[in-house]
Amino acid sequence: MSIGLNIEKINKAIESSASNFSRNVTLVAVTKTVSVDKIKEAIDLGVTDVGENRVQELVKKYELIGNKVKWHLIGHLQRNKVKYIVDKVDLIHSLDSYELALEIEKRASKIKREISCLVEVNISGEESKYGLNPSEVKPLLEKLDTLSFVKVEGLMTMAPYVENPEEVRKYFRALRQLSEDIKQLAFNNVSMKYLSMGMSNDYEVALEEGANIVRVGSAIFS
Ligand SMILES: *Cc1c(COP(=O)(O)O)cnc(C)c1O
Repeated sequence: MSIGLNIEKINKAIESSASNFSRNVTLVAVTKTVSVDKIKEAIDLGVTDVGENRVQELVKKYELIGNKVKWHLIGHLQRNKVKYIVDKVDLIHSLDSYELALEIEKRASKIKREISCLVEVNISGEESKYGLNPSEVKPLLEKLDTLSFVKVEGLMTMAPYVENPEEVRKYFRALRQLSEDIKQLAFNNVSMKYLSMGMSNDYEVALEEGANIVRVGSAIFS
């Protein structure tokens, strides 16, 4: 399969779900371990957003590709690495602690750049997963009240890998419900514009459950 055909197939699924929910959906092409040449090919084929899960790899590729695409940091972010990406990323999908938010605030304020973030939620409760437990999300959002450069714009989750993606529908539905609950609470500095959920194996189910960002890697590049 070619990158072009793969993207076409995903875009078709996005289009049909978007008309159901009347919303815009962003496809983040996950480019971890993908070469710069292949990424450029995907960009020529219409990819506008790329996602990396490691800071070093994002920085290296950013230097070669630049800001003709939007950059998403989708993997766990250590506090001591925030400084390398704060001037490059368009969306951090993995905000998972108050300490990390403070570090982003500190670095972002130095360059006067607002940083959009999603709170990563471990919605399935799997031990191996990063992210906050659902019950920890609202207490974190309350504390972000006083920050001026960290803008929370939604939630992100990674579902467990399963053969049959129907099995993870309940997690996507739960994340969406959590985001609806948070909307009602109208926290300062917080909007629930984005729901980042769905990967190669389960993006169709995620779209059906209201995702407006899907993060797809292997279904595009392999
Ligand atoms: C790797 C990765 C993806 C994409 O996974 P695929 O199964 O290759 O589509 C999405 N989100 C995160 C956080 C990832 O690390």
